[in-house]
Amino acid sequence: MPRLVLALLVLLAAPAFAQAPITIGGYCSFEGNEMDDTVYGFDSDDDAEAAVREVTRYTGLRPNFIIRAANVPNAAAVIDGDSGQRLILYNQEFMRAVSERTASDWSQVSILAHELGHHLQGHTLLAGGSRPPIELEADQFSGFVLQRMGATLEDATRAMRAIASEEGSDTHPPRSARLAAITNGYIDSETLSGAAPSAPPSDASGETPRQADPPPVPTTSSDVPGETDYEGQVRYQLDSAHRAFERQGYTRTVEAHVARIDANARERFTIDLEAGVEYQLMASCDNDCTDVDLFLYDPSGELVDSDQLADDIPMVSVIPTKTGQYALEGLMYECETSFCYIGIGAWARRAGGTDRFGNDGGSQSNSYVEHVTNGLGVARQQYGSRGMRQAGTDQVGTVGANETRRFEFEAGGPGEVVGVCDQDCSDVDLLLYDADGDLVDSDELEDAVPIVEVPGPGRYTAEVVMYECATDICYYGAAFFRQ
Ligand SMILES: [Zn+2]
Repeated sequence: MPRLVLALLVLLAAPAFAQAPITIGGYCSFEGNEMDDTVYGFDSDDDAEAAVREVTRYTGLRPNFIIRAANVPNAAAVIDGDSGQRLILYNQEFMRAVSERTASDWSQVSILAHELGHHLQGHTLLAGGSRPPIELEADQFSGFVLQRMGATLEDATRAMRAIASEEGSDTHPPRSARLAAITNGYIDSETLSGAAPSAPPSDASGETPRQADPPPVPTTSSDVPGETDYEGQVRYQLDSAHRAFERQGYTRTVEAHVARIDANARERFTIDLEAGVEYQLMASCDNDCTDVDLFLYDPSGELVDSDQLADDIPMVSVIPTKTGQYALEGLMYECETSFCYIGIGAWARRAGGTDRFGNDGGSQSNSYVEHVTNGLGVARQQYGSRGMRQAGTDQVGTVGANETRRFEFEAGGPGEVVGVCDQDCSDVDLLLYDADGDLVDSDELEDAVPIVEVPGPGRYTAEVVMYECATDICYYGAAFFRQ
């Protein structure tokens, strides 16, 4: 029986599958096919879901999208025009055909990683959808992540060799360019990890994938909770969020509060908040829950803020005006069974803590900040040996991928500003403007140590451009050295 017919029969026979129309806002397709304005999404199959979760795990980011099987031409990163939800859609028949044709499960993983790359780099937010430069960025990301996951370069390029068009199109580059982009990302990752082929990051056990093994499925890994470990699922999401917040300079203020609650029930606990401190409060829930809401009440019982969107990761950001005992309340809005697990966490960041540090360090410290301050230390030595000295303090802060940060400084005379960035960043640029706002110098080379020349005394603005950051946010550092 032909595969397509078989697939249709399976679909028709499936009992009450969830099917929902999705209005296509911005999108990026894997190959250059036009998409309908509305497509239909179905529950994704476990393999695809597992592959995407695994890819996300290797980036250290919290998933900010959902994955659905849909009647799209191949695979696409999409923003739902109605809800604003980020989605990864894939055509099940297409995926199956690719796997078969390449005789490797890595092919699906590389295609999904490409789509994920679009979301992580904010591509689908841009008007106009696919176009060659962003396709190459997504391809590069896919090569980068697959190397981390333990694929060989051959595995990482299999799908592209099999299905990409040789001459490309208006939206998609030719196959040779896309293969080069994957290879480039793959080699970048090898270089970062210090050796080839890479060892999986963190504390992954011997069960993690290597070489030509098929892609990992969460249930076989020690750190990802299994299908029935509901409490583990909740803690896992809070831990992923923790890593993301930590990168942005937040520290955890309370242990995660995890509880089993009934559908439609509320779970409340008290938390001490300090006036003037920036807090991120977040809830998560297990795999049987699709919608949980979060409410924050002040010491007098007034509602301060809430997140009641239809999602399973509600978040409330607040800078309290008074210190005291607040209440955080989670509401289990959509739970498929009679009870679900909920987890609530809180993170704090002192105002002004991340953007400017004195030479003596400041209160923030993590391996990314260390990497950056060490880099500036090396620069200090080198400039010192050339008879130059630092004027002013180190500028250290975070900057989102493809975003810019500016800082002003007073130069008593000519010199150089040098920039550095953390271990997840491979290309940062530096632009220098004078007091009139005119560009004086720039270093837009593809490297992680840009240098611009300060021509003479005056007030200047330096702009840091985070050009290549492997995650959604990277640390940068900059310092001015005088002759
Ligand atoms: Zn794409």
